Amino acid sequence: MGTDADKSYPPPPGSFRIEQAPRTELQELQNVRLKALIRRAWEHVPFYRERWKEAGLRPEDIEWVEDLTKLPVVSKKDLEDDLLAHPPFGSYQGDFPAIRVQASSGTSGNPKPIFHTHSDWSVISNFWARRLHAQGVKEGDIFQLVFTYSLFIAGFTATEGAMKLGALVIPTGSGAVTPSERQIRIAREWGVTVLAGTPSYVLHLADVAEKMGLKPRRDFRLRITCHTAEALSEPARRAIEERWGVMAYDNFGSVETGAPAFECVEKNGYHINEDGYIFEVLDPETFEPLPSGREGIVVATSLFKEAAPVIRYNMEDLSALIEGPCPCGRTFRRLGKIKGRTNEMLKVRGVPLYPAAIEEVLERFTELTREYLLILNRVGQQDRVVVQVECRPGAANDASLKERVERELKVATGLSMETQLLAAGELARDLKIEGRIKAKRVWDRRNEG
Ligand SMILES: [Zn+2]
Repeated sequence: MGTDADKSYPPPPGSFRIEQAPRTELQELQNVRLKALIRRAWEHVPFYRERWKEAGLRPEDIEWVEDLTKLPVVSKKDLEDDLLAHPPFGSYQGDFPAIRVQASSGTSGNPKPIFHTHSDWSVISNFWARRLHAQGVKEGDIFQLVFTYSLFIAGFTATEGAMKLGALVIPTGSGAVTPSERQIRIAREWGVTVLAGTPSYVLHLADVAEKMGLKPRRDFRLRITCHTAEALSEPARRAIEERWGVMAYDNFGSVETGAPAFECVEKNGYHINEDGYIFEVLDPETFEPLPSGREGIVVATSLFKEAAPVIRYNMEDLSALIEGPCPCGRTFRRLGKIKGRTNEMLKVRGVPLYPAAIEEVLERFTELTREYLLILNRVGQQDRVVVQVECRPGAANDASLKERVERELKVATGLSMETQLLAAGELARDLKIEGRIKAKRVWDRRNEG
């Protein structure tokens, strides 16, 4: 069953040509698709129509990609406010014939529903096929998927993308539905070659395999791991690649946007699917567009989406655009490493602190597992930071370890923190790594009185 969406955004090999199209052709395609999107949203999505009217704008004002800056930037909070004003689904979904709802994981309260039409679903699945193809997944691969199957979108769309490539998908889901030991037995006995999951769970599975007396590099046929939901830091990538003997690739996106960007085998930034998205990087204070190479907030527009389109949507991630050709041959521009999420920024004694910075430090220590929990307390008027970390067997007796970790954390963040060393397995259990979409690593108790 073919749809127009499948013709405009086909999976590989149909998408090869557009991925390497000249920049001028891509820009022309974006102009045409942007105009169509703006008209569609004006007619069918009250959320955008009302905001643009308030700003004195009409669809005719947006002729080219350059005109996008006339439109107001939309925040996560704007969507949440709209949801409260127009329950239960919000006016940002529009009046399209939607067939499926997924929702963002809602770190700060209720899930945020995002509708999808047949076309939306088909395009996002095809973009997943593109991603996986760029990362080396092919027909005949045995593809075990250990993401959570829930309101979270990536488990389902990654599954469909892999099927479109002709891989044999084993949808075991997360550890909450298929216990980790069973995941490991299936991976080994069914000859799994690609594992898709969060970095923390894929590393946890290496621990589980070792506990079962197996050697991840020797006893499995894995060649590739594909990630999303949690950013893949460089130390985590190295750990996954060394322990499993694979190539590990990251993908960037969200429930609101679908599947916008992916790493190719060069592992040097995320190619943006520019036939389906426009990405801007803006100054966090002024919201003025920044030239490539300058770091700011990532703002996305989904050209293809019918239901719940995002138009200048602030993803609250910090990164920079990368211009210039990639050795892989794709002409799609790239988004650089994600430097942290603006909504993950904590203020401690007036100093901004990103959990990602702590993670980068902890990953330098081979004595530690990757599990940690950051606990913020208030003692009198003073913020107190405690970092609980898990040690590999034997390492907890190393008298200098605590001091070395604390020193490096101080250098990296400018803040004094207390480190508590825990035995391997203690935190993974408390953090419920197996069942979560993303591991929750911050416990802010400062307002608990
Ligand atoms: Zn590339």
